[in-house]
Amino acid sequence: MEIINEAKISDLLNKHNKPSSEEINEVIDEAKKARGLTSEQAAILINISKQEDLEKLFATANEVKELIYGKRVVLFAPLYLSNYCTNNCLYCGFRVANKEIHRNVLTTEDIKMEVLEILRQGHKRVLLLMGEHHKKMSLEKFIEAIKTVYSVKDEKDSSIRRINVEIEPLSEEEFQLLSEVPIGTYTVFQETYHRQTYKEVHLSGKKADYDWRLQVMDRALSNGMRDVGIGALFGLYDYRFEVLGLISHSFYLEEKYGIGPHTISIPRIRHAENAPLSEAIPHSVNDTDFRKLVAVLRLSVPYTGMILSTRETIELRMELLNLGISQISAGSRTNPGGYKQAADNSPDAQFNLNDTRTSGEVIKDVIKQGFIPSFCTSCYRRGRVGKDFMDQAKPGLIKQFCQPNGLFTLKEYLIDYADEETKEIGDLLIEKNIESLPENIREKSRQVLDSIGTGQRDIYF
Ligand code: SF4
Ligand code: SF4
Repeated sequence: MEIINEAKISDLLNKHNKPSSEEINEVIDEAKKARGLTSEQAAILINISKQEDLEKLFATANEVKELIYGKRVVLFAPLYLSNYCTNNCLYCGFRVANKEIHRNVLTTEDIKMEVLEILRQGHKRVLLLMGEHHKKMSLEKFIEAIKTVYSVKDEKDSSIRRINVEIEPLSEEEFQLLSEVPIGTYTVFQETYHRQTYKEVHLSGKKADYDWRLQVMDRALSNGMRDVGIGALFGLYDYRFEVLGLISHSFYLEEKYGIGPHTISIPRIRHAENAPLSEAIPHSVNDTDFRKLVAVLRLSVPYTGMILSTRETIELRMELLNLGISQISAGSRTNPGGYKQAADNSPDAQFNLNDTRTSGEVIKDVIKQGFIPSFCTSCYRRGRVGKDFMDQAKPGLIKQFCQPNGLFTLKEYLIDYADEETKEIGDLLIEKNIESLPENIREKSRQVLDSIGTGQRDIYF
């Protein structure tokens, strides 16, 4: 089985370069069933150009997202442990050739302070990241850092409930080590699925090996990782190729391991200090095409979580919640030690932020848009992971957990961290959404909310 067949992807994109409205309608009717699409069907949708067809695509993506996940939007905070890196990726501020950046590895005390800041924003889920530099930050140190993150409690006695990780592709032995600590999803972005482009933008270091990176999820799923996340960095090559690359990678994992990607991330290149490709983006993706690619991925792999970072503008981030995005970062800092420093953009960051709202502001806006900001981590802790998760997510059953759990974690947030306005609109949102829960869990959910009101925490289905 091949993960990526470049010739096949290019052929499909050429064959369906100008799809007719009839062809598009046929695929959209299929997509409404929320069972996913073939690569060929995805190639038809990604080549849509007329506004009226785009509108149909967007409306269907919204329907399918709501069918699978309901109204919840999961929130998380990235936490960078180190910006040392031995690789030379032309789009990244951490690259080894950037001599002007101030390099930093967080100490145990630093990590504790960062986590405290993140907890005080109400977060319960972090994404741990670091550059690739074994001398400065080994896997053993990384595992110690995981334990440190879990150990921190804030004034509300709250702690991080689940850590997802996004670090370099590990070997089989390293995965076995990592599997000894409780983590959620292990994520690696391929950056670009186009082999020649990959070679041109990753000049040196271990990351220059395309196949080592591409095959990482095989090693991960065979060595203790239960949930994996994939992603592409949009702007390096033709976005249509990358979308079909992500879909091919998803189908490969599903066919071989019975587990598709738990999440798909879709960052676009943003300005980073001394990163030449961030100043001259070779295949810049405009906002319309970006909306389209989000919708096509949502329809092609409906069960997957789709993640959007603070690289995007506020307006677009809010809009994309209607087109397929199910997880967003909030109040992010992308330099090690950034939460304590409190500056929006730092020259020592991996990339610059476009959305500099605080977590509180993001949460308020999400509520105003009718979505449930969720800090839920229940699947990982209930053992709904790997194939068990997929069995719930594919037929759209997972939302029976997402909806009430999202409401419970929102209630906790409102009591422990929110300002008065957020409390008011948040309570109204909870009341409205409780009514729409299936009858068999509505009463029980009310009881849980009452318990949270009297001081209990961390209750979940
Ligand atoms: Fe290092 Fe990752 Fe940046 Fe590449 S993208 S230079 S591997 S931190
Ligand atoms: Fe995520 Fe599972 Fe919670 Fe839904 S119930 S928000 S899928 S952890």
